[in-house]
Amino acid sequence: MRVLQVSAELYPLLKTGGLADVAGALPAALRRAGVDVRLLLPGFPAVREAVADWQPVATMTAPWGETAAVLASVWNGSMLYLVDAPALYARPGSPYVDAQGVAYADNHRRFALLGHAAAALAAGLDPHWRAQIVHAHDWHAALAPALIHQARARRGLGGTTATTVFTVHNLSYQGVFPKALFDDLGLPASVFGIHGIEFHGQVSFMKAGLQYADRLTTVSPTYAREIQGHEQGCGLDGLLRTRRDVLSGILNGVDTEVWNPAVDTALARAFDARHLTPRAENKAALQRQFGLEPVAEALLFGVVSRLTEQKGLDLVLAGLPELLARGGQLVVLGSGDAELEAAFRTAAKAHPHAVAVHIGYDETLSHRVFAGTDVTLVPSRFEPCGLTQMYALAYGSLPLVHRVGGLADTVADVTLENLADGSATGFVFDGFDRAAFSAALRRAFALRARKAAWRRVQRTAMEQRFDWDSAAARYVALYRSLLSAEAVDATA
Ligand code: ADP
Repeated sequence: MRVLQVSAELYPLLKTGGLADVAGALPAALRRAGVDVRLLLPGFPAVREAVADWQPVATMTAPWGETAAVLASVWNGSMLYLVDAPALYARPGSPYVDAQGVAYADNHRRFALLGHAAAALAAGLDPHWRAQIVHAHDWHAALAPALIHQARARRGLGGTTATTVFTVHNLSYQGVFPKALFDDLGLPASVFGIHGIEFHGQVSFMKAGLQYADRLTTVSPTYAREIQGHEQGCGLDGLLRTRRDVLSGILNGVDTEVWNPAVDTALARAFDARHLTPRAENKAALQRQFGLEPVAEALLFGVVSRLTEQKGLDLVLAGLPELLARGGQLVVLGSGDAELEAAFRTAAKAHPHAVAVHIGYDETLSHRVFAGTDVTLVPSRFEPCGLTQMYALAYGSLPLVHRVGGLADTVADVTLENLADGSATGFVFDGFDRAAFSAALRRAFALRARKAAWRRVQRTAMEQRFDWDSAAARYVALYRSLLSAEAVDATA
């Protein structure tokens, strides 16, 4: 089966979050499962310049008249297609916002073109390879299912027979634009309505994906349920409820080529679940690097995160006095909201030997934080899947998480029952408030006082396998179901 993955990001070339990790790892896992998979990305400089030997495939014209080329090359064993339109994409840095953090005014065009390129590849733009399934990720790629749906309606008149999967990595980023821009999208006027892509008088790319894709997935089973409710539905829960029969949750995996403490060259010392003693050297190195007091016994907490409201780090700030009073230390690696950055900087200044902050994005350092900390804090208000708690598990840093989304699906709390049956892997709190967070902190300190129990939980954590092959097998099953439904359709 021929599957085209459509994404705005791709690890390690261009990454702002977990979406890139998925786009980087899923294709290889699908290939191992026998899928003929290719990727389509916008021609951002980070991708265009990192990959050599781009070959022209075809040109296409955007609905607003701009011409773009579709190029192809091989990267990491995957065939990559690139939408080459320098006027839209040749801007270094973030793929979405300018240096001041302001969303580009032409984002609707930048990502509409991505959708059009995907639809064109499903309709035979590349004479040598035609996608049977287009798998679009997040709002940036969400016009593809809408365009393909339209083209299918014209089947027999040069339309496509491709089917579509749309994966929501985060429902709160929706790609909403003023109605005045609708004409740029190249969709018929009838699509602008409540049963189409209109969202409170505006245009919603996310809704285009949710409305028109043949199958919907999100990145954990719990988040798939949560987004059907008012609290986490971001105004789209009604639509998601009507489409619940085609909506499922498939947990992301961990790319063990990138995240394996036994062979990780970023670390001071390699270690694994059976050889945990050398792990202490990573903690000492991290304390040194961050200028923290080199106390082996201090319980060291870590945060690796975008600093945004979603991540619930206000709870970390609120719980800091308690964490410090109990002799804990904290390292934060992150960037994002100016207010959160300033608050963590202030905390570090006030407690230079116990709190340290690195504002910025640093992939190597993130590995060291997971390998050197005792606990990784992920108190997100909501969390579609969350990768950091899975990396933390793999590196023996016990995750302390809010019971939502993928966090609920991947971390087992240190309850007495879970400790007794050997399934505990971290600290899980219910209810997003300071008291619940503090109680989880206290549980971490209490477990730490029981050294053997801590070790056992750490081993269990490191032995968890969230592998991409299992995730890929679920996607393959989904693709198969689509192809057989399509075959039935064709004979009807
Ligand atoms: P989200 O996609 O919402 O940001 P995830 O947990 O799914 O959250 O993925 C975040 C990814 O970004 C992880 O790979 C994490 O290690 C990485 N990350 C986040 N902030 C930083 C940072 N400041 N430096 C390095 N890596 C980071």
